[in-house]
Amino acid sequence: MITAANSEVRQKHASMIVMNSNPVAIGINSLRNDPRFVIDEKSPGTKSGIYSYHAERVAIRRAGNCEGGTLYVVRLANGRGRMSAPCDRCMTAIENAGIKKIVFTTNSGIAVTRIGVSNV
Ligand SMILES: [Zn+2]
Repeated sequence: MITAANSEVRQKHASMIVMNSNPVAIGINSLRNDPRFVIDEKSPGTKSGIYSYHAERVAIRRAGNCEGGTLYVVRLANGRGRMSAPCDRCMTAIENAGIKKIVFTTNSGIAVTRIGVSNV
């Protein structure tokens, strides 16, 4: 089924939610719109068709209660970490879920964002 070890996929995007030091949910996505990795959010045949369900939101959905949790997002390409800052849609879902901290890979390392704290 869905696994980050799929050798055909070079870009691996995975997300994990941690609550009180315990991992509670993992989400994985891969190539955008690859039907093997997509969760259908829309009915077949609609104009917009299938689109990928991002790892972050998969994890949030699976976790249920994420209040106060930490979200880890990792994107690997050819074995190296890549920028994986959540997109706007995921950020909205993350904020709505009550997650307080995001840790994600960047092209040069790891970055941390705290939700509810001004980034300005
Ligand atoms: Zn996203």
